[in-house]
Order: sequence, then C-alpha cells, then structure tokens
Amino acid sequence: MRAGFAPPASPLAYEARPFGSVAFSGPDAPEPDKYSACVHCGFCLEVCPTYQQLGDENHSPRGRVWLIKEAAEGRLPLDESVVDPVFTCLDCRACETVCPSGVQVGALIEEARGQVFLQRPPTGRAGFLERLFLRGVFPYPRRLRALGRLLWLYQRSGLQRLARRFGLLRALPAALREMEAALPVVSPPFALTGLPARMSARPPKKGTAALFTGCVMDVLFADVNRATARVVIRNGLDVVVPRQQVCCGALHVHAGHRDEARRLARRNIEVFLASEADYVVVNAAGCGAALKEYPELFRDDGAWRERAAALSKRVRDISELLAEVGFRAPNGRIERTVTYHDACHLCHAQHIRSQPRELLRQIPGLRLVDLPESERCCGSAGIYNLTHPEMASALLERKMDDIPDEAEALVTGNPGCIMQIRLGVRRRRRRLDVVHTVELLDAAYRKEESDDV
Ligand code: SF4
Ligand code: SF4
Repeated sequence: MRAGFAPPASPLAYEARPFGSVAFSGPDAPEPDKYSACVHCGFCLEVCPTYQQLGDENHSPRGRVWLIKEAAEGRLPLDESVVDPVFTCLDCRACETVCPSGVQVGALIEEARGQVFLQRPPTGRAGFLERLFLRGVFPYPRRLRALGRLLWLYQRSGLQRLARRFGLLRALPAALREMEAALPVVSPPFALTGLPARMSARPPKKGTAALFTGCVMDVLFADVNRATARVVIRNGLDVVVPRQQVCCGALHVHAGHRDEARRLARRNIEVFLASEADYVVVNAAGCGAALKEYPELFRDDGAWRERAAALSKRVRDISELLAEVGFRAPNGRIERTVTYHDACHLCHAQHIRSQPRELLRQIPGLRLVDLPESERCCGSAGIYNLTHPEMASALLERKMDDIPDEAEALVTGNPGCIMQIRLGVRRRRRRLDVVHTVELLDAAYRKEESDDV
C-alpha cells in the first residue's frame, strides 16, 4: 500500500439484506467464457491503479475476476466483499491492455454491477442521487439544457462569486464543493440546438459526419463541440447534428443500469442510422467507447445487435476520423509546450494513442513533451470522483506529480479528464491550461485565418 493512503470506504450505501449464496442470473449475467479466460498470471497487477494504491489482491483485476467467477458460480454471496471491489474498480481497462489472455475485465465489471443493481439497488443519498441524475436528468436533453442555463446564470450573475466569498458552498459535501470549483465556464448556445442541422464541408468533400454532442459534454463543453464541427468541416466532411440524439448511456452502464442504457442506445441507433452519415464523430472518450460497444449491450437480442453493430462501425473519435480521412495541417502557429494525457477510454478501450499525438505534432510552433505513465488513470472515471473521492484524489495527485514542469498546457481527449486535472491544477495553484486536442487544432486554424487577413 502507498504510504499515507487509507483504503476508502465506499460511500454507496447498499441495502444490508442477507443474501446467502446468490448466483448471478438473467441475460446480462457475467459470461463464463469471459471470466474463465483468466489464467491468473498476474501481469495485470502492476498496471492496476487501485491495486497500486491498496496493495490488496481483491482490488486487483485478477482478484476481481476471481470474485466475479465465485459469485457467478454461487460459491460467494453477493455481499460487500464482492460489491466493494467491483465498485472500487475505475473501469479504466488498463488491465486489458496488458492481459495476454484477452480477459474483458471492463465488460465483466459492468455486468457484475448490473447484477448488483438488480439484486441490491443502492439506497439512501447515493441511491437518490443516482436516480435523480441517471434517470431523471441525463436521458433528457431539455432538462440538461435547463440545468446548463441555470449554471450559466449562476456563473454570470455574480452568484457564484458571492457564494464563494461568503462561504455558502460549505454546506456542500467536500467532493461536490471541489467539483463546483472546477466547473468550466458554461457557454451556451449548446451545440445540439445551437449549431445548424447541416453544415457544408470545405472542398474537396470526403463524406458526411454526424456529430455526437453528448449530454454533460454539451452543457459543460459546448465550445469543444463547436470546435469539433469547425475542424471536421475544414477537413472535407459535411457535418450533420441529429436533433433527436440522447446521452450515450455510458454512465448508466458503469453504474449497472443496463436497461436504461439500452433504452438510450436504441434511440441513438435509430437516430444516427437514419442520418445516413458515413461517420459518427465523437470527442468524449467515454462516449466513443460506449457507442462502439453498443453491440455488447444487445448480446442476447439478434436484431438490435445487428443494428448496433451497423452504428458502431461508423463511430470515430475526432482524432481517429481526421487521421483516417486525411488531415490538412493548419498553418497557424501556436508557440506552446504541451504534454498529452491518454484518457483511459481512448487508449485502453479504443486503442487510440498515436493519432492525437500525430495531429498535435503537425501544429506549427507546438512542442510536445512526454508525460510519464500517460496512460495511468487520473481518477476521473465518470462519476468515480464523486463516489470514491479519496481514491480519485490519490490518483489525481500522482497525475499532477508526473506533469513536466516545462508544460504550459496539458492536452487530452475526454471532458471528465479535463475537469479532473483542472481540479488538480487549482489545488496546486499551478499555471497550466488543460484543453481538449480539438481546441488546439481549431485555434491553429483560426490563427491561420487571422494571419491571412
Ligand atoms: S493479466 Fe489477464 S489472465 Fe493474467 S491475471 Fe490478469 S486478467 Fe487474468
Ligand atoms: S479496470 Fe482499471 S481499476 Fe479496474 S481492475 Fe482493471 S486496471 Fe484495475
């Protein structure tokens, strides 16, 4: 165990029901082929952030796979000894990158959480917050936009400044207080409704991309969505923005709400297939991974699985899309030294590592320096920093220690990582911008335009 780190008690309050030996069941149960693939070699231990922090086999990939197998086969009850390691997992999938047997640890964790959700639904404050956000807000774009406008008002009216000055935020739990401090400046109009439904490519035209705007992404990072549309257009693709799209359901899958995730997935599959776009372009690593993995959600439903596969074939991260269609390097110079952090769901889940770096290297004036262990999770992991604040903080501190002193900006491809690392910057009072890859590309194109005037 790392010095000075206390194992976190999970704040998720699960109903304390005696279950005895409960085997997993139902169509979403962890599949024997998946957990039986583990040969217990232990190669995954040294890359697992929770094992590195806790030094406890139960909090390693190998330990978790074993616990899931034992519970699935009825030798272990579904009690806290299984639930805590399953929920303390970041679902970062670093273990999958090094596993010689191809064990799908992420899918097993998500399926096990689905079983926990069905058999031991969270209660108390955690249950209330999960229900409120995962069922009551994220699936509804209008409610999200209303929340976004309230946040915008809070930030612009001076209320945020007053609340901070007079300590009104002390009433919030510490984790929420810190998140409030790291909130990006909300900048409506949101892309889903504010961008035109169709935008024409700069010639020569190479195809059409449908923009996936995301739920939280569009409320908190609408400027990144707008930058994505501009960069895609400049690189020869028409951009369409299907208005009926909804949240991808990644957070629901991570929390075990698989039926709700499927409901959202069905809508997105219908909407994006109907758009007839050649590609679906995504700028949030977690959403991209979720959309690509829709077929797994429908593993027992042949018709929907086929449609999910048709959609997932078209999904591209923005860096992947630009590399594939042929990227036109900008001429605008950006004189900065930057470092790149690999978002877990970009590198481990989507195997995208070289493309963002290649794009950055083509920006004139930009110097890219290495970030040690750039693929280690920053602790964001969806809402993990709210559910497991101590572990998330410990991982954030390690990430901040690794950022080279010479870096003036950290670049990454996921909004959750941006918010988390901005929190670290704030805590350390460090001078460091944290930006999305596409924002830098867009800035270089805009610079080129203004230099031409
Ligand atoms: S590396 Fe793969 S096979 Fe080896 S212990 Fe870890 S999960 Fe099992
Ligand atoms: S997904 Fe990440 S935290 Fe979970 S077991 Fe694998 S390496 Fe560890």
